[in-house]
Amino acid sequence: MEDIKIFAPATVANLSCGFDVLGCCLDNVGDEMLLRKNDLNELRITRISGQDLPMETHKNVAGVAVQALLKQLDFTQGFDIEIDKHIKAGSGIGSSAASSAGAVYGINKLLGEPFTVKELIPFAMEGERLASGNAHADNVAPALMGGFSLVRSYDPLEVLALPSPPKLRVVILHPLIEVKTKDSRAIIKQNVNLQDAITQWGNLGALVSALYVEDYELFGRSLHDKIIEPVRSILIPYFDELKQIAMESGALGFGISGSGPSVFAMCKGDEVAVSVREAMQLFYQEKGIDFDLHHSEINTQGIKII
Ligand code: ADP
Repeated sequence: MEDIKIFAPATVANLSCGFDVLGCCLDNVGDEMLLRKNDLNELRITRISGQDLPMETHKNVAGVAVQALLKQLDFTQGFDIEIDKHIKAGSGIGSSAASSAGAVYGINKLLGEPFTVKELIPFAMEGERLASGNAHADNVAPALMGGFSLVRSYDPLEVLALPSPPKLRVVILHPLIEVKTKDSRAIIKQNVNLQDAITQWGNLGALVSALYVEDYELFGRSLHDKIIEPVRSILIPYFDELKQIAMESGALGFGISGSGPSVFAMCKGDEVAVSVREAMQLFYQEKGIDFDLHHSEINTQGIKII
């Protein structure tokens, strides 16, 4: 195989109660990447469209992730990477993760799959380290594996694939203001109140259970965040009002996608998702804030060859 074209999906990390450990993969929101062998023994980013991002290999998350992979193999093969960005950087739906995960997935295929998809996670995490200063896995794991992922442990890394109830739909509203992951991490408190922690781990355990037994209502009841949301939501215009509107329109739960400013509403079925989407859209239009909207199924496959 000389080249490969892939769809690199957007992802929703944290999912309220699972800060830094939980994420899920979206289906119709993502970047496209073309990866090709070259004869130059050199890794190059040769084209980026849709976003103004660094072309230098060591400054682009795709380059950094692939370099981590190639270092492990002691390989001299060169590659060219082209990226068509559709996910805006700093949107909170895993823009950097899509590029990191997509790049290592594609290169691994071109090399004859020396690594399993799960083994690619640590390489993709190096891209996340470049983007945010923190090598978190809650976007790259679901981007690579599809569905819902849970990071049980970072040291040693242990990532679990969780089931995806088939009627789940995700509505994403992205207010067009940029919030850097670095900045939204900086405002988080480093100590957690014990009562809040008890609520949080109760919800996280219940959410995992809800995915297994396909209990949509339990899933919704578990989507609460006592720790991060109260602090980070101040960066998102009209967060509380949006949440109320989404819940009154039938959403199972609502929260901040990743480090924001995107917010997500989890819904059961397309009919509810459309109502939620329209209500949030109307509200933001009235407030005069620019936004993007997405409505997606859970992508159980992850990265796709196209
Ligand atoms: P998101 O949470 O949507 O991934 P981040 O703010 O975490 O957004 O990451 C975006 C940062 O990563 C930006 O500073 C951007 O310049 C940098 N970056 C480097 N390469 C890429 C890439 N290929 N795709 C997206 N962002 C990249």
